[in-house]
Amino acid sequence: MNDCLFCKIIAGEIPGNKVYEDDRVYAFRDINPQAPVHVLIVPKKHMDNILECDAETAAALTDAIRAIARQEGVAESGFRVISNCGHDGAQSVKHLHIHLLGGKALPERMA
Ligand code: 5GP
Ligand code: ZN
Repeated sequence: MNDCLFCKIIAGEIPGNKVYEDDRVYAFRDINPQAPVHVLIVPKKHMDNILECDAETAAALTDAIRAIARQEGVAESGFRVISNCGHDGAQSVKHLHIHLLGGKALPERMA
């Protein structure tokens, strides 16, 4: 049995606030938003984090980032994409996800 939270959201078993979907990618609003626009972009196929991401999935995620940034109205104003990986990266959900954050000027760069 798959106990992954994001797999359950993708499958519709847990309510998510969907903003985008295509063949490979699903995206929904973060339950605890850190910015006016805070979307989580995930591959439909389970993979733990970016270390397991194949080239086709990476391309699909990139296409989705562009589409969602336009859809959410932040493509011109700017936004940030972050993918936390592993223990020291403070990854709390072990299904690859990309945070898209925008809608206001964000705090200074982390790196
Ligand atoms: P991480 O810390 O792994 O990079 O990010 C996990 C994100 O998932 C957090 O920003 C958290 O707010 C979000 N999250 C955790 N549980 C849920 C949930 O049940 N629904 C939604 N939409 N987001 C969640
Ligand atoms: Zn999963």
